[in-house]
This record gives sequence, C-alpha cells and structure tokens, in this order.
Amino acid sequence: MRYISTRGQAPALNFEDVLLAGLASDGGLYVPENLPRFTVEEIASWAGLPYHELAFRVMRPFVAGCIADADFKRILEETYGVFAHKAVAPLTQLGANEWVLELFQGPTLAFKDFALQLLGRLLDHVLTRRNERVVIMGATSGDTGSAAIEGCKACDNVDIFIMHPHNRVSEVQRRQMTTILGDNIHNIAIEGNFDDCQEMVKASFADQGFLKGTRLVAVNSINWARIMAQIVYYFHAALQLGAPHRSVAFSVPTGNFGDIFAGYLARNMGLPVNQLIVATNRNDILHRFMSGNRYDKDTLHPSLSPSMDIMVSSNFERLLFDLHGRNGAAVSALMDEFKATGKLSVEDERWTEARRLFDSLAVDDEGTCATIAEVHGETGYLLDPHTAIGVKAARECRRSLALPMVILGTAHPVKFPEAVEKAGIGAAPQLPAHLADLFQRAERCTVLPNDLKAVQAFVGQHGNRGKPL
Ligand SMILES: *Cc1c(COP(=O)(O)O)cnc(C)c1O
Repeated sequence: MRYISTRGQAPALNFEDVLLAGLASDGGLYVPENLPRFTVEEIASWAGLPYHELAFRVMRPFVAGCIADADFKRILEETYGVFAHKAVAPLTQLGANEWVLELFQGPTLAFKDFALQLLGRLLDHVLTRRNERVVIMGATSGDTGSAAIEGCKACDNVDIFIMHPHNRVSEVQRRQMTTILGDNIHNIAIEGNFDDCQEMVKASFADQGFLKGTRLVAVNSINWARIMAQIVYYFHAALQLGAPHRSVAFSVPTGNFGDIFAGYLARNMGLPVNQLIVATNRNDILHRFMSGNRYDKDTLHPSLSPSMDIMVSSNFERLLFDLHGRNGAAVSALMDEFKATGKLSVEDERWTEARRLFDSLAVDDEGTCATIAEVHGETGYLLDPHTAIGVKAARECRRSLALPMVILGTAHPVKFPEAVEKAGIGAAPQLPAHLADLFQRAERCTVLPNDLKAVQAFVGQHGNRGKPL
C-alpha cells in the first residue's frame, strides 16, 4: 500500500515511512492511495471474530508489504489484550435501537488507547528491525499524552516527551502521565497554555537541529496509523448490530475530525453506514461547516469537554481531499486561502455530497450536563461529557429510528469529574481497579518555562534513555 499527500506535491510513501512521518513535506496529510474495499460476503464472514482478529482483517491491506502477517497478528493480539473488558469495545444499550460503544476500557480510559497502544508496538517493531531510535514530542491537554505514554512506555527505541500546560490538566489526567516512571518517559509541565505547548512541538518539527540527527515522530491524530486503528471498531460495532445486512448510524464526539474520519473510511471500505453525526461542543467549526458550509476559525472556548476544545480540525483536510476528487492542487489552494483569511467554504455540490452522509450538532456545557442527567435518570448509566455530546447529537439528528444508532463512548466519566458534578445527579464515578491506587503513586515531572530553547535543551539532555543525545 502506498500513501499520498492531500496536497499532491510530496513523494508517495509506504506504510513504514508514513508511520514515522508527521506532516507530508508539502504541508499535507498522508492518505492511502487506494482504499481497500471489502465485499458483503467478506464482511459477513467476520461476524463473531475476536477484536484482534477482526483488526487483522480490516487493517492488513494498509500494512501489506511492510509488516509480515505473523508479526502483525502477534502485535494485534498483544495490543488488544491489555484492554480491561474481554469484548475490548463492548456495546451498552441506552434506549430503543440506541447503543454506546465503550471505547474507554483501555489503560488510560479514553478511545485514544485503541490507536496509541498499537502505534507504540508498531514503532517498536519497525525501529528494532531498522536498528534506529526516535524521539517523540507531543503536546496534550490531557487524553493524548497519557495514551501516548502508556502506548510507548515499553518501547526500547523511543524516548517520549509530552508537554502539558502546568496546572491546567485535571489531576486524574496529570497522574495518568506523571506516574509512569520509565527512563524513556519525560513529562514536561510548561508554564503556559496548551497552544504554547503545541507551538513548541510544531517549531521543533520545523527545525530539528537540536536532535543531532535523531528522527522526530508525531503521535497526534495527523499520524495515519492512528486513523487506521480507529476504523476497526466501526466494523466491530456494526457487525454486532446486523451489518452488513443492515445499515448502522454513528454519532461521534469530535474535535480534530480524526475519529469520525475513521468512520467515513469504514463506510468507503464497504461497511453500510447510513449516517455519521459530527457532535461538537461550543468549539463548533465542524458544525458550522456541516450545517452551513462555513469552515471559519473562531476563538477558543474552554468547555467541560476539554478534549474537543479546538479552533481548527487537523484531519478535516483529509475529507476535503475526497470532496475535491482527490485533487491535491485544489486542496492546497483551499488551505492557502484558509491560512490567509481563516475562512473556507466549498462549492455547493461538494457540500451537498458531504451532507448526504454527515449531519452535525453543537452542544454547549449546559446541554452536556443536562444530557448526563437525563441518561442517568433514564438508565442509571453515567456518561462522560464528550460521550454525552454524542448522545445529545444522536437524539437530535438521527434519520431513522429503525436503524441502530451507535454513539462512540470516547472516555470514562471518572476522567471528567467536574462535568459529572455539575450534572447534579449525586453520583461520583469511581476509578476502575487497575487505577484504584492512582492517587498514591509517585509522580515525576519537570516544570519548564514557556521557552522553546529551554525545552529543546531538555530534550537534547535526556533524549537517549534519559542521557544526552
Ligand atoms: C481526543 C478526544 C476526542 C476527539 O477526538 P478527535 O479524533 O479529535 O475527533 C473526543 N473525546 C475524547 C474523550 C477525546 O479524548
């Protein structure tokens, strides 16, 4: 399988190089040159497979030529073996034809484990074979950092540096990062906000001299391997609800358009998906596009669902590429326009095409808390604020009551106690068994000023299993 850039100018890469690449050299994002497409018979034959075996069948075409079947099978079995629930991604029924797909049974209690547990193992496999070491730098407002650290902690060939804004992530989220103590794990608390952290990551990718030749790898959702891993659970859920013989709808709490883009790909690979609902919080740039063809940059609004607090959606460009007939020059022109004006819209027929599949809703904090309370009242089930936004959007936007509606449950409520408290239901979520002693564990973290040079010097000093590069 070869991968091409959404802006059409960068060289095509194989899977291994895409795994190690960040942005393409032309500023675009990598996508498969040809998406695999499965027949109805093939998909039907996968019913009842354990998660890791289904994962092998869905993802095999994407890694073909780079990872041998036997290795890939072993890696997948290990990856999904660490999840706390035997079903890996269990479905819980909330209402008539309405389910939550629980994607928070992994080590860090958010769906990002599905991709980052795999990414860490794939990196280790590829780097061992190449006898190479890499440095990972990432910025996090919470979930990505802990999932990336958990995914990479056992990688001999990776040193991982995760920056979070000092005193601005929840205590559960901080401890999920800082209590992992390997000598290749480096938590940096920056005296600044999330954007400051992100800017320093970007600047480090742009000028890598401080790494003395060591390769820098990205773990944010522009990394193709993350999207790839997320395609699997759409198949997994739909197969349990009658696909491929009947269609299924999904409602997806989304910020960077990564998770929902995986659902879009699942559909293009042959899964009968009749509707994808984009569920956002007040940071609603995606809702403004889907409802009115206006993708306009706004200021950041901090919310009770912080993992979706974004101003622009980094993966949206991948959808634009398809909407423009995979014309890299057209995407490049659009993105230039967006960079210059902070605004973008597409031709009517392209927007109409997107709307055949996508609907959307933006839900504010009040609506989020009301939905947590509503569902708790109906069923006793406790939603996290991100998933609650998905439920609200599903209930407002669903096109068919006769088809199953699956809401992606992106996080465990214990990660976001503030929203649960504000919902006023008197229920406090408990940490699951494997994290029960989280508040007793030792922490390690370095506080650094909001200063690129200081951060890069720190990476240079510790980038080789805690020793200088
Ligand atoms: C990351 C995250 C999201 C948003 O995912 P995208 O891929 O950016 O759309 C939603 N919910 C939770 C809990 C997350 O951690």
